[in-house]
Amino acid sequence: MKICRIAGLGTDTIREVPTTASFVMDVAALRNMMGQDAATGRSPFLIVATAGTTAGGIVDPLAALADIAEELKVWLHVDAAWGGAAALVPRLRPALRGIERADSVTWDAHKWLSVPMGAGMVFCRHRDAVRRAFDVSTSYMPSTAGEQTTEPYLTTLQWSRRAIGLKLFMSMAERGEAGLSEQIDYQARMGDALRTKLTAAGWIVVNDTMLPVVCATHEDIRSGRRTTTDIVRSIQSRGRVWISDVHLGGREKALRACVTSFRTVDEDLDVLISELERARVT
Ligand SMILES: *Cc1c(COP(=O)(O)O)cnc(C)c1O
Repeated sequence: MKICRIAGLGTDTIREVPTTASFVMDVAALRNMMGQDAATGRSPFLIVATAGTTAGGIVDPLAALADIAEELKVWLHVDAAWGGAAALVPRLRPALRGIERADSVTWDAHKWLSVPMGAGMVFCRHRDAVRRAFDVSTSYMPSTAGEQTTEPYLTTLQWSRRAIGLKLFMSMAERGEAGLSEQIDYQARMGDALRTKLTAAGWIVVNDTMLPVVCATHEDIRSGRRTTTDIVRSIQSRGRVWISDVHLGGREKALRACVTSFRTVDEDLDVLISELERARVT
């Protein structure tokens, strides 16, 4: 939404595509909406998909969206701010299937690569497009940075910039690709462990993802005996763990826990479960 404002398109140009029962973008609905827009003189030109939503770690059907983008000749952008790191883990990589066909992808090193804020990245497969958008020339700057280099001010919005890449380089130099991969895989496995523990304790996991964000509800919540707001408030006031609640797809209220630290261990998950249970029964 912010980007549409900044780009001068205005927010009236945005179409929010409904999601299916499993909270992924409804491909058939997207197709219909694009058809209707085209029929009424509008020109749909961009599909924005998410690979790992903030609320539920949901990955949109990227391959199907890439098919539509190809067929209708529109741009496919994938927001992989957090979930993109799954690409570093062979076991998790299939969850992002289709992302390799995107025209552009955003990915944040400050989410999952042990780098402080902010270190966002954008990848674009169309060199000429970013060049057309951002290339400028002045008489006081050299027109080329040399054979092997692209001047970032010619391909991005910023001119002067901090050396943001340095901290990412340090993190990668310290851990290596294998180390980062192992760290991310470990956190994903902690997410799996949390799902197992929640289910065993009688909670209902409502989001389907390989990523370690876990949204869970309970019969007590669905029946209205307890609200997610009450449970969150009770847990936060005790201060042992931090948790939030989400409204998935505008229809399912759930508690949301996200494993974001490589220091999370099994016992932390047990503390979370006992805090949840305590808040639920009181
Ligand atoms: C964190 C996140 C963002 C926000 O990105 P910033 O670069 O931190 O502003 C956008 N989309 C998703 C899916 C995210 O997880």
